[in-house]
Amino acid sequence: MVKVTIWNEYRHEKTDEAVAKIYPEGIHQQLASFLKAAGMATKTATLDEPEHGLTEAVLAETDVLVWWGHVAHDEVEDAIVERVQKRVLEGMGLVVLHSGHMSKLFMKLMGTSCDLKWREAGEKERLWVMDPSHPIADGIGEYIDLEHEEMYGEHFDIPVPDELIFTGWYEGGNVFRSGITYKRGSGKIFYFQPGHETYPTYYNVEIQKVIINGVNWAKPTIRDYPVYGNAKALEEIKNSGK
Ligand code: ZN
Repeated sequence: MVKVTIWNEYRHEKTDEAVAKIYPEGIHQQLASFLKAAGMATKTATLDEPEHGLTEAVLAETDVLVWWGHVAHDEVEDAIVERVQKRVLEGMGLVVLHSGHMSKLFMKLMGTSCDLKWREAGEKERLWVMDPSHPIADGIGEYIDLEHEEMYGEHFDIPVPDELIFTGWYEGGNVFRSGITYKRGSGKIFYFQPGHETYPTYYNVEIQKVIINGVNWAKPTIRDYPVYGNAKALEEIKNSGK
């Protein structure tokens, strides 16, 4: 059973009535509900918990971490960001959603500004599948239509992704690399753009399917973490030139 920890900043839901109406228990609980229904063991963690809910013990028991943050990226402590980054390099999977593109964690893993164009106009988005045989696109047709989403547009200042799985098109004319993957160290990372807090995006079953697929794809490969540093020869070196 995949062990998933869903991290949510959990601020919009407490301060914005429109958001609270869509996600009365918080975005994390909605994400947890469909991941649980997909047979995963879910835990949640939020910003205002001690150590943001991401203690060494919690991370040690996490196969894949899902991340949703927006207005309080700066409040995430650097020490916790470093702790999570280390776990990713050691093999923990990471699924970064929507405005998580500007989280300290994602920026640290990417090494670029991760900035983009944005617009809140309630416009339609069409997410085109760019990689039909990829496991993250499994069960999805040629595209997913979302009646309303926040526009995220290119240029998106990220390193060239390892894989491009979805390209988003918006009614207002912009396009975006909406579903992308990376490997960092032994860890796998999936970034997925949909999920603005004022739209019911995480109730869309196709979006749910992509996130479930993303978690399954990102789960760690079972193998020991590589041993780095000075290495003894495996065979006798007969002519070392000495
Ligand atoms: Zn947003």
